[in-house]
Amino acid sequence: MNVSTHPQPLIIPRSEHSISRAAISANALKVLYRLKEAGYEAFLVGGAVRDLLLGITPKDFDVATNALPDDMRRLFRNCRLIGRRFRLAHVHFGNEIIEVATFRAAAAPEREEGDDPEADPSDALPVEDSEERAVDHRGRILRDNIYGTIDEDVWRRDFGANALYYNVEDFSVWDFVGGVADIRERRLKMIGDPEARYREDPVRMLRAVRFAAKLDFSIESSTEEPLGRLAHLLDGVPPARLFDETLKLFLSGFGAKAYRLLRRYGLFEHLFPRSAAAFVLTPYAYAQEMLEIGLVNTDERVIADKAVTPTFLFAVLLWGAVLREMNEQGAGHAPDLAQLLQACDAVLKAQQSRVAIPRRFAVPMRELLMLQPRFNRRAGVKSLSLLQHPRFRAAYDFLLLRAQVGAADPELAQWWTHIQTIPQEERVALVQARPAEAAAVDGAPPAAGRRRRRRRRGGAAPK
Ligand code: ATP
Ligand code: MG
Repeated sequence: MNVSTHPQPLIIPRSEHSISRAAISANALKVLYRLKEAGYEAFLVGGAVRDLLLGITPKDFDVATNALPDDMRRLFRNCRLIGRRFRLAHVHFGNEIIEVATFRAAAAPEREEGDDPEADPSDALPVEDSEERAVDHRGRILRDNIYGTIDEDVWRRDFGANALYYNVEDFSVWDFVGGVADIRERRLKMIGDPEARYREDPVRMLRAVRFAAKLDFSIESSTEEPLGRLAHLLDGVPPARLFDETLKLFLSGFGAKAYRLLRRYGLFEHLFPRSAAAFVLTPYAYAQEMLEIGLVNTDERVIADKAVTPTFLFAVLLWGAVLREMNEQGAGHAPDLAQLLQACDAVLKAQQSRVAIPRRFAVPMRELLMLQPRFNRRAGVKSLSLLQHPRFRAAYDFLLLRAQVGAADPELAQWWTHIQTIPQEERVALVQARPAEAAAVDGAPPAAGRRRRRRRRGGAAPK
């Protein structure tokens, strides 16, 4: 990467680009103007500029400036400084946060989110370490607070398309690295040497997939080439940071496509190793089909502005691994609840060292899965208590998904659909008329009926 030369940017004047101030958040403009009036340079940067050029509404607005974090605190009352590895100013306006970063002189991962120093493996100990900057022996940046100028700042950004600056001084767009052409060609091209940049921060591999899925961009060949080879570097990323990235990949409206790309580059295997291992074994392959359908449904909900929950997502992501664990612990055709619970816990425990799932999602996820066998018990008034369970809705949606891939009886799913629509007296009459039955889990190898159905549907080979 070339940080020693200071190239001149291509400056695209206001009249020659499509960004209109009306499309920029009023709060972001307030921050930009206040900085400018105080005599600082101030630019809108990153995803917001990219999205505005693409005609998409930006998710958030980031600002880059030559004001230092302490200057920011003086200028903005509603400002908080965050991050150790990477100092940032957050300016709060009600629900909206405008993130302001001081220009930096060297390549650095932008985010602090979920960064847990405790979770770093011991081989991540710094080999270069000073107050401002620390790098481990693999070249991974642990801390970076060396401030610089805009023409230094640009080299630490990830993709050309993410490295455009919109200048509040005259509303021009500054392009140092061919970002405008990348956006026109709809491609992601890493700035600098792709392999070195992935080594500095392996999360950039997930970002490549995320933006390719979100924007429908191609990944330029030299940027794409190292992905498969370097996928294992994700193993050294703090699991809490991978949790944040996982949510962005799967809960932003393009999860199905992100999943296909993660599989294509062998990245998924390093995020959810046990799930990936289960998906290739015949008895559990349907769990992958559930995941794919679940992701399509989730995308539709996000696009329709409906709520989506990490709880359901992780249930679908881990179900295959849970079933496999249960079988390997010797559960027979009708595994009991204790075996299911044990399997959930074993899978969750192993998962924490990759993508850490916070307890507030892990606990309800386990409840959701533990309710699955209870759907099989329909005889007697007690069975109706399931309808009152706080996790009923999510567990019922999960049952529908199982029925959709032939892993649960469609008649069972219809029963639980129907029973929700009728008055209590009719429910009681229905459950009293049923003979007693066992509460089996679909942990055993699939029944003949399920196999037939799966074949008709064409199976679920990874794409
Ligand atoms: P989104 O639409 O998801 O907000 P974004 O491009 O704005 O996309 P952010 O994570 O908000 O992404 O980061 C803002 C900008 O900071 C990016 O556009 C990029 O220039 C830079 N950046 C963020 N993370 C990294 C990273 N890990 N490595 C290099 N540059 C990064
Ligand atoms: Mg952003």
